[in-house]
Amino acid sequence: MPPDHTAPASSAEGERRNPFAVLPSVTALVAAARDAGSSLAEPTLTAAVQHALAIERAAIAVGQHPMRADVSTRTLAAVLNLEHLRLSPLLNATGVVIHTNLGRAPVSDETAEAMARAAANPVPLELEPETNERGGRGRDIAALMQALTGAEATLVVNNCAAAVLLTLSTLAAGRGVIVSRGEAVEIGGGFRIPDVLRQSGATLVEVGTTNRTYAHDYAEATDERTAAYLKAHPSNFRMVGFTHAPTLAELVDLAHARGVLLLEDLGSGALFDTRPFGLAPEPTLPESIAAGVDVATISGDKLLGGPQAGIIAGRAEWVARIARHPLARAVRADKTSLAGLAATLRHYARGEAVEKIPIWRAIAARPEDLRGRVEQIVADLTAAGINAHPVVTASTIGGGSLPGETLPSWAIAVDAEAIPGRNLEATARRLRLGTPGVYGRIERDRLLFDLRTVLPEDDERLSNTLRGAVGLTG
Ligand SMILES: *Cc1c(COP(=O)(O)O)cnc(C)c1O
Repeated sequence: MPPDHTAPASSAEGERRNPFAVLPSVTALVAAARDAGSSLAEPTLTAAVQHALAIERAAIAVGQHPMRADVSTRTLAAVLNLEHLRLSPLLNATGVVIHTNLGRAPVSDETAEAMARAAANPVPLELEPETNERGGRGRDIAALMQALTGAEATLVVNNCAAAVLLTLSTLAAGRGVIVSRGEAVEIGGGFRIPDVLRQSGATLVEVGTTNRTYAHDYAEATDERTAAYLKAHPSNFRMVGFTHAPTLAELVDLAHARGVLLLEDLGSGALFDTRPFGLAPEPTLPESIAAGVDVATISGDKLLGGPQAGIIAGRAEWVARIARHPLARAVRADKTSLAGLAATLRHYARGEAVEKIPIWRAIAARPEDLRGRVEQIVADLTAAGINAHPVVTASTIGGGSLPGETLPSWAIAVDAEAIPGRNLEATARRLRLGTPGVYGRIERDRLLFDLRTVLPEDDERLSNTLRGAVGLTG
């Protein structure tokens, strides 16, 4: 036992007269934090202790009467917590492939390595090694994108929201943009097409109805103020039944006949057909470019499976103009994302995306293989005396992609009976807080761990972590 530096320095009598007497001294808390292994530098540790004590003092000042022991525990925990890295890796066994709250797409090993190398070293970000002249930012990406999608030019920015804002600000500010009422959507996290349009300085011209919009609706609304038609992919919901939207080809023809631009916010941005994986068709960037879209925008960390980024792809003339807009500098991608995006695109170029990119590995995993992996971990748990069994389940894509689509999967089920006090919530919490954290889901009085979203190379870690945490009480 380390010495207890926070032991009472005054009597209980003193605490009754002066409620602030429960507060340990700064010196005592600093010493306690050191004993508990804190490696913070002296001034930082002292400041952290003072801050934690100030919070306790404020609570007492408004009439609370905390116990001395609780004050010591809380302040010490708050100080030690400063050294805890919040974004440490976890195992996603939720069955949601692109889990927004868990950081969307994890990248391939090659991509992560490229990002780490670019972060740790100087790189020729804006220099041509051949001539030592300025330029070339994102040139490798533009070349890969041209080969993969047919886009004449590409500009990479911070995320797709920035890509849409920058595109509209450059090409439509002060003019009208026609959007179908069925596509004036909210994507999530506060990204609403009408709001982004207003923010860009363009005027939203809504046409059609929520469920049915025709090409002639666009035609009738087009006038000399119209800059563009914007097609937004309603990526996080699906409309079924009595619906109609003009085809992309129809809209492109109409836009170009009327001398306006056709912009498309694809969001998810699949680069290939999703149907062979048992999923509904997701619009792909190559299709949009082939259809003659002037500028399309996609996310880097959804179905592309790369780092966070927004990709603006399309006609060279418009992309060049977008790149010159003052806002482009404010939303540009950093060297780490650019290196990661190039490495991810290289997987597509080599035809190895499905083997290398984690989200595509997850989507392509075959149920019979998932079943075998689940059975192995269930056997490990059973051998450790934990009652678990394999169950059939359904994974989802998530991340505002392919709403309503599921993939057949297998999960490890731990019934409430196997858990002390049947306290599923407490066990789920302990797993989340473990190293690594494990995130599953609670469904019908059992804990489920879906292996579709766990890479096979992580199975052993998952098995060990489950064995270490599931049988415990408390
Ligand atoms: C997800 C999405 C966005 C926002 O993308 P971020 O990369 O998260 O900024 C914009 N538009 C559509 C259609 C989307 O699906």
